[in-house]
Amino acid sequence: MSQAVYPGSFDPVTRGHMDIISRAAKLFDHLTVVVAHNLSKPTGLFTVEERVQMLRRCTEKLPNVSVDVCDGLLADYLRKVGVNVVVKGLRAMSDFEQEFQQALTNKQLYPEMETLFISSAVEYTYLSSSIVKQVCSLRGDITDFVPPEVKDEIVNRIQNRA
Ligand code: ADP
Repeated sequence: MSQAVYPGSFDPVTRGHMDIISRAAKLFDHLTVVVAHNLSKPTGLFTVEERVQMLRRCTEKLPNVSVDVCDGLLADYLRKVGVNVVVKGLRAMSDFEQEFQQALTNKQLYPEMETLFISSAVEYTYLSSSIVKQVCSLRGDITDFVPPEVKDEIVNRIQNRA
């Protein structure tokens, strides 16, 4: 069975993430979306458990997709679950440098693993979780940015913050 892992912060999940998830799910028998604790973004808007719940709601209709958490090194997580393919989305050249560095570091830590880059859909190239948070906190409409299943939860959290 072919398997892959799609790791990220997903704080919160966007339509750009969903596009990568649905496309990657067609390439593998099983795809695990992994909410990874990110040391460079230690405190998120949503807790890891909330992000997992939102991703589960958004992927309910994709039978070969599951959601999990990784709170250590991705390489250790992959070894533990026995998966050696990581999928990443690439929006623009600006993503490339960091993603390439991460891919090489992971390869050093776990030589059997491969990172597969999927290019962003043109309509989502500009989209990031931070843009969603920015627009929403200024009371802009995020309907086109996030999956419908989680829009209200995101708006409530951001606009009702103290
Ligand atoms: P963000 O940069 O939005 O905070 P994450 O850290 O959750 O996103 O990113 C997880 C993965 O999803 C990364 O590989 C990232 O490049 C990819 N990704 C994020 N947004 C998009 C998008 N709009 N289109 C394609 N890939 C994306």
